[in-house]
Amino acid sequence: MSNHLSDRIQNMSTSATLAMAAKARELRNEGKDIIGLSLGEPDFNIPDFIKEAAKQAIDDNYSSYTPVDGYAELKKAISLKFKRDNGLEYGPNQIVVSSGAKQSLFNIAMVVLNPGDEVILPAPYWVSYSDIVKLAEGVPVEVKTDIDTDFKMTPAQLEAAITPNTRMIWFSSPCNPSGSVYSKAELEGLAEVLKKHPNIYVVSDEIYEHINFAGGHVSIAGIEGMYDRTVTVNGVSKAFAMTGWRIGYIGAPEWIAKGCTKLQGQVTSGANAIAQRAVITALEAPVSKIQYMIDEFHKRRDLVLGLLGEIEGFNLNVPEGAFYVFPDISAFFGKTLNGTTINNASDFALYLLEHANVATVTGEAFGNPNCIRISYAASEKELKEAIARIKAVV
Ligand code: PMP
Ligand code: GLU
Repeated sequence: MSNHLSDRIQNMSTSATLAMAAKARELRNEGKDIIGLSLGEPDFNIPDFIKEAAKQAIDDNYSSYTPVDGYAELKKAISLKFKRDNGLEYGPNQIVVSSGAKQSLFNIAMVVLNPGDEVILPAPYWVSYSDIVKLAEGVPVEVKTDIDTDFKMTPAQLEAAITPNTRMIWFSSPCNPSGSVYSKAELEGLAEVLKKHPNIYVVSDEIYEHINFAGGHVSIAGIEGMYDRTVTVNGVSKAFAMTGWRIGYIGAPEWIAKGCTKLQGQVTSGANAIAQRAVITALEAPVSKIQYMIDEFHKRRDLVLGLLGEIEGFNLNVPEGAFYVFPDISAFFGKTLNGTTINNASDFALYLLEHANVATVTGEAFGNPNCIRISYAASEKELKEAIARIKAVV
């Protein structure tokens, strides 16, 4: 079959998280007993009060195109949420609702970057950042961090990575994949460097904000001097277990929000109407309504850390948020396990899939080739079984 795909698509990598999830599904269909710890997707059902709001929205005939940037009532709820949870004041002209935070990120890249603009990505970074930046003809610039610094970028590293072409910095806190959470003091340190470089913008991906076991999420937009140069990205996929409903949003300087709305007007016409109505209810609810999920993730994190900590060769940090562990498994490189030589993290992840029937994701996709990512958004039973299987084959 001939291949007429554009260079753009040929040069793009497939999302490693989604690819691994698809591979696990395929193997399961072949009858294999695969435990999937590859996808960052809460295993909870959507809370009933949100489902009720969606049902009501159908009955109330919310079936037409919505405003491109989102229903006014939803933007009001987002504005109140930013104020309540983050102490940030975003007016309606600064908020854009999109079909998932992933689309919000894509919009930002397309709206802010010119070809050749550099985007600093503290690595490990979320798998899609690099390809989204490249799609917008930007240049990802990785800043390597490792387990010894809890996978966080220091002000000195940031300073050293800045060039005259640097246009943006993208990061997530709590971080996917490392689970690291930047403290206020750490963010202030980064902001101090940025003071000297007024043309650099920040994308602060806060989609795991509520899944934070250390308490005290801090938004970099709230730090002195940062508000006018930060885009705060968030969404409902993680905290409300609404991955398939595809709603994300930004609070941004007005010119960026305007650009994103213009782009969306030509690409999607706006996010799904029923999902938007349901999200109004989700965001208006107090965080206490979803605390049971956060508590459960916390419990599972401790369980997973304890069990993986017993396996020789797994070097772990203590993730303070999100629902991933990101062990450094480089101790296995060069070793042969059951006839398979492990040369890198991809070999190791494949080995676990084939020999333990456990799906994880290679750290290479996140810009760290010494680690693998294990999502603990799975039941306690599955987690225990998966780690026992891993232990048995390594
Ligand atoms: N940012 C991060 C850090 C993520 O882990 C995800 C995972 N889906 C997203 C953004 C995108 O979320 P969604 O598009 O489902 O809102
Ligand atoms: N963000 C999740 C993950 O990292 C979901 C998959 C995706 O959107 O790529 O696994």
